[in-house]
Amino acid sequence: MRRTIFIVILVIMALIVILLNVVQIERDVIIYVEEGKTGEELKIVRISIAELPYRLEKEKVVVHYAGSFRELTEDVARELDQGLALIEERMGIDAAIEVALFHKPSELEERNIRIVVEEAVWPLFVESSWKQLSDVDSAFLRDLHHTMPHEAVEGVVSQYLYHDRRARWVGDGLAEYAGYLVSQRWAPSVVKARLENLRRRVDGLLQERISYNLIEDFLVIVDDRPSMVEGAAGYGVALAFWLDLTQRHGEEVIRAFWKRLSAQKTWCLIPYVACVGPNARTAARILTELTGEDIWAKLQRMDLQEVLDVLERAAQGLPEG
Ligand SMILES: [Zn+2]
Repeated sequence: MRRTIFIVILVIMALIVILLNVVQIERDVIIYVEEGKTGEELKIVRISIAELPYRLEKEKVVVHYAGSFRELTEDVARELDQGLALIEERMGIDAAIEVALFHKPSELEERNIRIVVEEAVWPLFVESSWKQLSDVDSAFLRDLHHTMPHEAVEGVVSQYLYHDRRARWVGDGLAEYAGYLVSQRWAPSVVKARLENLRRRVDGLLQERISYNLIEDFLVIVDDRPSMVEGAAGYGVALAFWLDLTQRHGEEVIRAFWKRLSAQKTWCLIPYVACVGPNARTAARILTELTGEDIWAKLQRMDLQEVLDVLERAAQGLPEG
């Protein structure tokens, strides 16, 4: 009996140690400015919202900022909020985001640098001369109209599904779709550049092979290893999967899918690690019931030429910008 109690205490202590480690990892938002080559030293720059005294809150958005960025902050908060409202209307996903406007660190221009934000907020880097949204550069616009909607949606989906590494086609696929919707509406030059970039990656892979396995080649990243070439192409393949689905079945398929998936609660002892709840197969099964197609099989044999065609069609008909 005493031995049993001893073992139970040991197990509880081990779980606490594991839990603390995971929480520690999650707290840091890590931004790769340039991926270090193997063997090269990465310089790490730590920043914190402790240096930002102000905070602006909207329905779906919190922005931390320094007093000098008041006007730009209002623009950013409004744009993000309306982007996330569009996502809720079109995709049925209620996503929110917390961002921070930092003075652009001078180290950002250097090679092999990694910016680590101490809190779980997404950083946006601002030049001192930018007073309002019309002053910002294209990288800032991309972060605002594509990256932030992407991360907001992936943040929601990942809580349900990323305990299963095979579910990245849902998280990054819907995230890319969200970025596509928002930038298509408010920043056509951003969505154009993004689609071009995705097509280039898929085209590069097409030189080596004709199909892509979204279940095996595009796994949720659990450590710091830089993604491989196959992983890089996965964003375009996953986006094409959802674009194709909505073109043939309407956007209602996403809303119906998310309603059914999110009704199944995911319960985690350790976030993202030890969870019970829906997984990649559950997601595919729901889509099969909604479309009548064998989604699980389709995911494992995505035709790369068809992917290119879908991305090409998405790029056509965009307004000039
Ligand atoms: Zn992502």
